[in-house]
Amino acid sequence: MKNVLTLIETNGSAELENTAAGLLGAAAKIGNPVAVVAVAPGEGAGLVAQLGALGATHVVLAECEGTGSLLVAPELEALSAGAREVDPVAVIAANSVAGRDAAARFAVRAGAGILADVVAVRSDGDAIVATHSVLGGDYTVEATVSGGPAVITVRQGAVKDIAPAATPTSTTVHVVPGNGAATILSTKTETSSGNRPELRGAARVVAGGRGIGSLENFRLVEDLADALGAAVGASRAAVDAGYVEQGAQVGQTGVSVSPQLYIALGISGAIQHRAGMQTAKTIVAINSDADAPIFDVADFGVVGDVFTVVPQLIRALDAHSDS
Ligand code: FAD
Repeated sequence: MKNVLTLIETNGSAELENTAAGLLGAAAKIGNPVAVVAVAPGEGAGLVAQLGALGATHVVLAECEGTGSLLVAPELEALSAGAREVDPVAVIAANSVAGRDAAARFAVRAGAGILADVVAVRSDGDAIVATHSVLGGDYTVEATVSGGPAVITVRQGAVKDIAPAATPTSTTVHVVPGNGAATILSTKTETSSGNRPELRGAARVVAGGRGIGSLENFRLVEDLADALGAAVGASRAAVDAGYVEQGAQVGQTGVSVSPQLYIALGISGAIQHRAGMQTAKTIVAINSDADAPIFDVADFGVVGDVFTVVPQLIRALDAHSDS
């Protein structure tokens, strides 16, 4: 089987980002999943078994001075080194800021075509076919590249397939960042309140819109999110009105999510909002207007006042968790 190289991202403490499983799952659909990860020298040993548990059959540890303090350069060099090692038919990265950046630079370097923000991949004979959700999620299109490895960035959370666990082999290579690599001078960690999952890649999202009415009322969205162990999202109107911080915005100019469950509260379902959530597996909408466009994409809809329906829903969830 042909190798498919995945660029695995880590946080500053050499821990895997939660995109790793989806990347290896996507790789396993089209070939032999191989992982490459940029690490500071001597820090990668513990990652090999973890990546094996997620399906990597081989792990390339690309040791690079400056990993964690240089912007994207270590990941780019890691990708190049990994590609030299395993000659992949495809290279897959997360559609995160760093993943997109590294994938695009690698594609230029390799003279390869890039398929960005992909929600599914499959093989068709020798071709690798990527699925995109486009035009506000109203159309699903397929694309492929010819010549060179296909470079693919996968939307976080979109690929749910998990590769079978493997006992990986590993190689360690040493890479040197190119001249002029940008240095990260400072970072600021934004902690979401409580133990809520991060919006990108969350399995469940509860989002509130203008219909929530105020910053104080937005607590209702957070309460339902907490009852479900979900991340909090919002429409742009809710963000613009100051109900919630901008990082929660879902849509064309916000975050794209593909959770298992997306609950839209008081959101009309404008095309720019749907662009960021329409690939969710199950969409539930609660809206007082039966003609709201969100119901066109909802699997389950409740026509009603969020302030009546949501407290009942939270009580039912609480009762269920107590029993
Ligand atoms: P509204 O459209 O005002 O809808 C509010 C809904 O709440 C209504 O359907 C109403 O029936 C319902 N409601 C009111 N009260 C209650 C109640 N008590 N109980 C239940 N339901 C109630 N939008 C985004 O979300 N994300 C983006 O990334 C984004 N990018 C954009 C980019 C561009 C270039 C442009 C032009 C627009 C963009 N927008 C984006 C804005 C988008 O067009 C909509 O204006 C926005 O999504 C509307 O947000 P909303 O659904 O919360 O508000």
